[in-house]
Parts: sequence; structure tokens; C-alpha cells
Amino acid sequence: MSTFQALWVTEGEEFQQQIVERNVADLPAGEVLIRVHYSSLNYKDALSAIGNRGVTRNYPHTPGIDAAGVVEHSASNEFAVGDEVIVTGYDLGMNTSGGLAQYIRVPASWVVKRPAKLSLREAMVLGTAGLTAALCVDKLLTSGLKPEDGEVLVTGATGGVGTVAISLLHKLGFKVIAASGKPEQTDFLLSLGASDVIARDELLQGQERPMLKPRWAAAVDTVGGEPLFNIVKSLQPSGSVACCGLTAGVDFAANVFPFILRGVNLLGVDSVEIPLSVKSAMWHKLADEWKLELASLVQEINLAQTPAIIAQMLAGQSKGRALVSLL
Ligand code: NDP
Repeated sequence: MSTFQALWVTEGEEFQQQIVERNVADLPAGEVLIRVHYSSLNYKDALSAIGNRGVTRNYPHTPGIDAAGVVEHSASNEFAVGDEVIVTGYDLGMNTSGGLAQYIRVPASWVVKRPAKLSLREAMVLGTAGLTAALCVDKLLTSGLKPEDGEVLVTGATGGVGTVAISLLHKLGFKVIAASGKPEQTDFLLSLGASDVIARDELLQGQERPMLKPRWAAAVDTVGGEPLFNIVKSLQPSGSVACCGLTAGVDFAANVFPFILRGVNLLGVDSVEIPLSVKSAMWHKLADEWKLELASLVQEINLAQTPAIIAQMLAGQSKGRALVSLL
């Protein structure tokens, strides 16, 4: 166990990704050493793998914001050798050696025990993307959303957050409309539980107008950028949009009219830095009353296959969730 396989991103004229053997002794300090069984790929991992300094400052580096595995050494009273645990977010995979490796060592304050009804594999099929989708839906429910209120839009529909959001909203009885840039994936999105699929470009129509016809009871927006405020302008009175992503961009032009004339809400969602107790509560919900059947949206890959999927993600071409086995 002194050496292990890891994805390794190096900086040169271009950033390069390769699979290397690393030493456990070179992992950062932390109370809990974990033998990772599964990780997953998230958009942020793709950014880390190409040298995005907003995600990772220093290279060489092992990305991976998700990990689920078994405790192999613990200096914390809260965890014992053999415990099956989940780590997502905080600094994992950003500036702390990440989960795209057979070992991680992290502070105990980042670690949750897996719920009894959620296997390590199931936890990483969901991963940060699934946790984020659940947090978005939870915020919308807390805002008062009910199935009878009308259609709920999900953008970036074929992505990790999008596919889990559709599945969860469908399970909870909502009528879901998926917005996607991939017309060829319409049948896939309908099979997840979307009632209809609209083209991503439709969400850019009417940008010049201060308000748009109210349509959506709510939305889970994973793309941000210019489409986001068009969604806000199309919310029904008192409707809410949960905003969690930026694949379409980080800036958008806005005005106050939807807020002061329709009382709509723009709800921010962060799944990375929230308290561990909130993450743990959400994992338990996903293990129990929100348990999803996600076999159709996951592909299982090994470490050597991660660079190809990362390239697909960056090109906006990936679909669903990529589960990375490190067994
Ligand atoms: P994925 O790469 O799996 O999916 C992103 C999807 O966005 C794509 O599949 C595509 O869907 C759509 N998309 C891609 N490029 C564009 C574009 N130029 N314009 C509009 N849509 C585009 O990413 P994830 O689902 O893992 O993450 C989605 C977003 O959520 C990311 O920005 C990520 O950083 C963010 N995120 C935020 C978190 C938080 O805590 N706030 C946590 C996790 C993720 P389609 O082709 O169907 O339109």
C-alpha cells in the first residue's frame, strides 16, 4: 500500500494528464487515510485537469472532487479502520490531492460515513453532481414548490447535475421540461422522466425584453450565463430558479422587474463548502426516500479512461455520470 495509481496533471507548454504511480507518503497531512474504491467525474475535475487556476493553483496535481472508500488509517475518534466513507467537495481535488487516485488523506471534518442504504458505488454514481441536484431540488421544495404548480425546467439536461435533477424531480411527481443542446439525446432525456425536451437556444430568445411570458413554476439551472436571466424572466409569479452552474458562462445581464413585479426568487446552490451535517443529511435522503435508479445514466470507467471523458465534458459532449472504479 505504499504506492498507488493516480491521475497526474503536469504543467508544461500544455497541461498533460497521465496515470502514474504515487507514494502514500506524499499525500498531504490529514487525520483519515482512505483507500478509494470509487470516484466520479464532475465538470470541476475537467477544469482542474486543464490547468484552470480558479480551481487548482499548483501543479503537478491529482484532481477528483469525489471519493468513496474504506478508512485504512484514522487519527480521529470519529472514524475507525474499515469504515466505509464518502468525501465530496471542500478542497478535495482542488488544491488537495483528489479522488482520481486509489488513496486520499483528508481532514476528518470532510468525511461522512456512508448511509447504510447507499453503497459506495451508489454514492459515487451520484457524486457531487447528484448531491448538487438534490440540494437544488431541496431548495425549490423549501421555497414552496409543489407538483401542481406547473412545469419545472432543467437546463444542461444531459449533464451530471441535469440528469440526476430530472430523475429526482420526476420521482417526486413534477412535470419536467429538459433544455439541451443535444437533440439526439431526446429519447434518453424522456426515458429519465422528462415530459418534453426543448432546444438550449430557445432559452436565449427574447433577451432584449425586460420580462417574458410566465412559463416555469421553477427551474434547476446548471448552465448560468445569458440563459439564466431569461429563465428568471419566464418564471411564474413567486417561482424560483436554483442556480448552480456556469457551463454557458459566468456573467448575465439582469433587471429588477421579475423580482418586483412577479416576486420570483433566484436561489444560489453550493454543494462544496456547506456544513458537513447538511451534506450528510442529503446523503441520507438520497439513500432513502429520494433513492434513485440511475443505471441508465451512468457509465463505469477506469482511471486510464478519464482523460477521454474529461475532453468530452469540456466539449459539452458528455452524457450523464461517469463513475470511476479504482478497485
Ligand atoms: P457536465 O459537464 O456533466 O454537464 C454540463 C452540461 O451543460 C452539458 O452536458 C450540456 O448539456 C450543458 N452545456 C455544456 N456546454 C454548454 C454551453 N456552452 N452552453 C449551454 N449549455 C452547455 O457538468 P455537471 O453536470 O457536472 O455540472 C454542471 C455545472 O454545475 C457546472 O458548471 C459545474 O461547475 C456546476 N456545479 C456546481 C456545483 C455547486 O456546488 N454549485 C457542484 C457541481 C457542479 P446539454 O448538451 O444537455 O445542454
